[in-house]
Formats: sequence, C-alpha cells, structure tokens
Amino acid sequence: MAEFDVVVIGAGPGGYVAAIRCAQLGLSVACVDDWKNQQGKPTLGGTCLNVGCIPSKALLESSENFERVSHDFAAHGISATGVQLDVAKMVARKDKIVTDFTSGIGQLFKKNKVSSLQGRATLLGRDGETWRVAVVGGEELRARHVIIATGSTPRVLPQAPLDAVQIVDNSGALAFTEVPKRLAIIGAGVIGLELGSVWRRLGSEVTILEAAPAFMPAADDQVAKEALRAFGKQGLKIHLGVQIDKVTQNKKEVFISWKDAQGAAQELLADKLIVAVGRVPNTDGLGAKEAGLKLDAAGRIEVDDHCRSNLPNVYAVGDVVRGPMLAHKASEEGVMVAEIIAGQAGHCDLNLVPWVMYASPEIAWVGKTEQQLKKDGVAYKAGQFPFMANGRARALGDTMGFVKILADAGSDRILGVHIIGAMASELIQQAVLAMSFSASSEDLARTIHAHPSLSEVIHEAALAVDKRTIHI
Ligand SMILES: Cc1cc2nc3c(=O)[nH]c(=O)nc-3n(C[C@H](O)[C@H](O)[C@H](O)COP(=O)(O)OP(=O)(O)OC[C@H]3O[C@@H](n4cnc5c(N)ncnc54)[C@H](O)[C@@H]3O)c2cc1C
Repeated sequence: MAEFDVVVIGAGPGGYVAAIRCAQLGLSVACVDDWKNQQGKPTLGGTCLNVGCIPSKALLESSENFERVSHDFAAHGISATGVQLDVAKMVARKDKIVTDFTSGIGQLFKKNKVSSLQGRATLLGRDGETWRVAVVGGEELRARHVIIATGSTPRVLPQAPLDAVQIVDNSGALAFTEVPKRLAIIGAGVIGLELGSVWRRLGSEVTILEAAPAFMPAADDQVAKEALRAFGKQGLKIHLGVQIDKVTQNKKEVFISWKDAQGAAQELLADKLIVAVGRVPNTDGLGAKEAGLKLDAAGRIEVDDHCRSNLPNVYAVGDVVRGPMLAHKASEEGVMVAEIIAGQAGHCDLNLVPWVMYASPEIAWVGKTEQQLKKDGVAYKAGQFPFMANGRARALGDTMGFVKILADAGSDRILGVHIIGAMASELIQQAVLAMSFSASSEDLARTIHAHPSLSEVIHEAALAVDKRTIHI
C-alpha cells in the first residue's frame, strides 16, 4: 500500500495543477486519473486538454483563418482564388496540439515527482487520520489529504440519445471528418456557440435551439443583445424558448420535432446534431455516498470558500463544485487547496474569475453585470466606448462591439468590466488585474496605454465613466 501526503483524484486543470503545486510545496503526492482518449490510450489533462478548451480553440483558429481568407482578405486588396479546405488536416493539427499538451503534463509530473496513476479512484474510508483510496486495476493508496477534482460530463438530453456519429456531444463535434451541410445544435451556451461558429465558418448552415427564453443570461444584458445581433448577421439561426419534443434519425439525417417560444410545432432536418445542454458534476464511482461526502441539490460536492468538503481533510475543486465551470477557476482552486494543505493561506475570489467566450465576436467579462447591480440596489456609474472609434480595431478590420466599465458611484471602485469585440479574451486580463488590486476607474483612466492598441478601448471606457472620453 503506497502512502502519500496527498492523493489527487482527477488530472484535469483542477487536479494536475493542485498535484504540481502540492509537490512544489514539498508534499508527497499521487494523482489518479481514468481518462482514455478515442484510441483507448490513457491521457492526462481531463476535459480541458482532451475535448474542451484546447481542441476547441485550435479549431476556432483554423476556421477563422478559412473565413478570413475566403471573405475578409479582399478588403485588404488581397485576392485568393482556389481556396481549399482540408478538414482531415485541420482536425489532425488540432489532435497534435492536444497530444503535445497532454503528454506535456506527464513530463511536468515527472519533473515535479508527482506519482501518476491510471484508473478510477474510489474513496474507501478513513483509518484514524489516513484516507484509503482504491484505484481500479491498481493498489490501494493511503493519504492524509484527498483533493477531488473529478470534473464534469456532458448533460444527457433523454429525447436525443447520442450515437457518436450523427448525434454527438462536444467530443464528437470536435472530430467531424467533413463539414456537415446542415448542422443542428441543442443549447446556445458557450460550448454550443463556439462549436457552431467553427462549423458555420467552414460552411455549415447552423441552427441552434435553446430552451432558455433569454440569450446568454449570465452575461451583461447589453452584451448579450449585441452578441445575438452579431451571430444573427453571420447566419447562425438561434431560436430561444424552445422545447425539444422528439429526435429521430435514419442513416442519412436527423429529424428534430420542437416547439417554438409561442408553442407552435416546428421541424428541423439536419445532417448532424450536437447536443450541448450543459455539463453535470462527475461523482460517478467516487464512493461519495458510502464515504459520507455531502453533495448539494445539483449533485456537486458541497464545499466552503476554501473548497473544504464536509469530510476532514477532503477537498474538492473545479467543475465538481459550485461556481463557473471554467478551467482557470479549477486551477486556481487547486493552487489554493495545495497551499492550505501546506499550511499557507490559500485564496480564490470567485468574483474575480474572468468569463470568456471565444466565438466572433469574442465576449469576456469579470465582476458584476449591470442587471446584478440594479438587483442588488448598488449605485453605480457606467462608462462605455466602441471598438469602431479605435485605430487598431480599424486596422484589423474588426470594429464591432464595445467595452463597458461599471464603477461604484461613491468610491469609484471598479465593480465589473464587460467586453464584446476583438481579442476580448486577452483584454479582459487588464480588468481582472485592476479589480484584483481594488482599482478605481480613475486608476485605469490615469494608466498610460500604448497607441494604437485595442487596450485603448478599455482606457477610453474608463475615461467615459467620468464623461471625459477623448476620441468620441
Ligand atoms: C468544448 C468545451 C470547451 C471549453 N472551453 C473552455 C475554455 O475555453 N476555457 C475554460 O476556462 N473552460 C473551458 N471549458 C470548460 C473546462 O474544460 C472545464 O471547466 C475544466 O476542464 C474543468 O476542470 P476539472 O479539473 O474540474 O475537470 P476535468 O477537466 O473534467 O477533469 C476531471 C478528470 O477527472 C477524471 N476522473 C473523474 N472521476 C474520476 C475517478 N473517480 N477516478 C479517477 N479519475 C476520475 C476524468 O476522467 C478527468 O480526466 C470547455 C469545456 C468544453 C466541453
């Protein structure tokens, strides 16, 4: 029986980061993971590296290049004829990026002396101060501390069972071998919109059916409205307030019967259907019930602000606990827990987790939305500036969208920053940093920004809070 200071269950961005940080802090650590790729080979990195953040961004980049060369280059005086699309090569490039990154985690584990084990782990119980963890196909592990980072799995829609060929989840949608002519997507969340954008850019006619009556309800209302308009202009057909009645298929196509927001019966024929109706916390086979681990009503492991579960020395981080299902949130929680176990003061402020959507336009935000501030009765000032009035955005030919900064009416402290437009995913970091240091909008307004740069839109939005923009 191998004994460690810490056993980490799951090697996604929550688990592998926690394991490495534990090792850096001098703790002996084992990380157990049961992921196998499509070839049945064990790989590290969890959802994020294998079928999530990394492969989706690789395909978003490839498809954006295809769209640019096909439609946008002409405005620059560059003509391109005979543009060809090789989907197999595009997917192989994505697969290589995934393999490089997943094998890189193995090297990081070796470098940091993290013991990496393959197999499903189950919490068996506690002998005195020591937790016992069974690993399927392996030996029993013992550790004083356990970090659970078992992530999430795609939510199943009973009306649309997956067949991994015509009806797929995110994994299948990242591995199509040709561009589907008619692509239906159930779910207009981040995953549905990103994958829909990939295949629309490559030529699919995309229809998205969303049950919620509002589009992107977690985003700032003004951003969500602008995004819905932009996606519509690109040709993504998005229906809200939809009820899916029945999905059937033959060898050629998928047939979806649904009701629109007014309750009228509708039908949709598609070559492929992506089901992207959210993700559910993954506690399968963990032995949660037997060990007495408390779950909340949504099936997530219940934790406090420091990711402590109800069991002594058992922590849980990432998608399997409350908060946004985002890789960087999982990793920061992993770091926090490792530092707490090592006797340091770990910290992770969920209000400072940036949210990002990488379709075009990119959308990113941090902190409170305008509707949240109104609901909470907080007096605030808003400053907004459009990319259209920014020199770098004009040079890029990417001028849609705006930055909006919300600041406390009294103290001027920044409460939220919302970006829709070019490189929002990169620009948001300036806002996260500012808010991490409790900056005011005046602090941002007095910061010198390079010219010409997209970050000047943030500068001008900060000036706008005090009604003193220069370029509008
Ligand atoms: C298509 C898509 C795109 C995404 N894009 C982004 C993005 O751009 N940015 C972003 O921040 N987030 C993105 N996400 C979300 C992100 O992938 C997750 O938030 C993140 O992976 C969560 O990390 P985690 O460590 O909690 O869990 P996971 O990454 O899900 O890892 C959990 C691991 O634990 C293993 N496991 C589970 N149970 C056991 C057990 N009992 N024993 C052993 N091993 C077990 C699993 O096999 C898995 O390897 C995306 C997700 C998808 C699906």
